Amino acid sequence: MAKANVTRYQPIAMIERFIAFDTTSRNSNLPLIHFVQDYLSQFGIKSDVITDKSGQKANLLARIGPADKPGIVLSGHTDTVPVEDQNWSTDPFKLIKNGGRLYGRGTSDMKSFLAICTALAPEFAEAKLSAPVYLAMSYDEELGCLGVPSMIAKLAELPVKPAACIVGEPSEMQVLMAHKGVNVFETTITGREAHSSQTDQGASAIAAAAELISFLNRLADEMRERGDPTKVFERDGYTSINVGLIQGGTALNIIPRTCKFVWEYRHLPGTDGKEIITRFRQFSETEILPKLKAKADDAAIETTTVIHYEGLRPEPGSFAEALALKCSGMARPTTAAFGTEAGLFQDVGIPTVVCGPGSIAQAHRPDEFIEKTQVEQCTQFLRRLIQELAPA
Ligand SMILES: [Zn+2]
Repeated sequence: MAKANVTRYQPIAMIERFIAFDTTSRNSNLPLIHFVQDYLSQFGIKSDVITDKSGQKANLLARIGPADKPGIVLSGHTDTVPVEDQNWSTDPFKLIKNGGRLYGRGTSDMKSFLAICTALAPEFAEAKLSAPVYLAMSYDEELGCLGVPSMIAKLAELPVKPAACIVGEPSEMQVLMAHKGVNVFETTITGREAHSSQTDQGASAIAAAAELISFLNRLADEMRERGDPTKVFERDGYTSINVGLIQGGTALNIIPRTCKFVWEYRHLPGTDGKEIITRFRQFSETEILPKLKAKADDAAIETTTVIHYEGLRPEPGSFAEALALKCSGMARPTTAAFGTEAGLFQDVGIPTVVCGPGSIAQAHRPDEFIEKTQVEQCTQFLRRLIQELAPA
């Protein structure tokens, strides 16, 4: 039961509170998690705080409503990307209201969704919900979904498993039924240095990198050609590959000893997510490494995974999709090309869609903002969800 002197936050006031916590992924998110825990407890809502090994980061999982019915998970990440090296015109950790927009780090990606859910928690608690709503807040999503698995494990172990999950990543309140997987790698090539006039003495790491990147270009063409047999994606319907960074060499007259490049592929959900990396490793080991080794015994090519996000498979007509369409008033679902935690919920058998306020175009950028109309739409979405779960 709510106490008489409890302060209720309206959605925008709650967004302001969330933005004020600097939860850049490298920081502890505990101050925000404890704030939410305290706020919820004022309305009689208990929450589980699931900490990591360091004790500095935590997921928060709260249930509102009966435990013995399959519920709806509302999920999002509390961490944000850094603001360093970005040209912000205002303090990124202070919510600035300007015209129809709210500025601040995390306004779109994705504190507004979590803040609106938290602000509306008392309304969920007061409604006589026939099925529970779970608030699921994770950490370290921006580092590659490192935090959420321990919370998903708890949800998967529940005696009555949730019937649907809505991940509130910024989709402008569109219902996303599918997105690609994201895989980022760093490849480091070690050859042998020599004077540039003595090419038989050296093993060029840059030349090897060029061959590897050409191989990726050929794979990219092949994937584009292969397309999307399922025809789920209206845009970019193929597994895409990009080499985003390259670094190597010492001087013009030195055969380069090292070269490093960072690359990614975004694979269609439901396709073999390991195909590209398997073929890349095979090519580098059988075609390129032997050439380097012929000139340098200690030559090496190392490829490490930096980030991996599961794709979200379409589940046409799933309960999650139908519910999100009903609450959003959208006619049909759509797709996206960015990675989220959604596929991990789906992997434990919880039908999942992405639907949240704000635009992915604002995510990770300086002067990140969310349109106020998005906040209103999300608030409406959640109130419709209450009506669905507690018909008058
Ligand atoms: Zn995000």
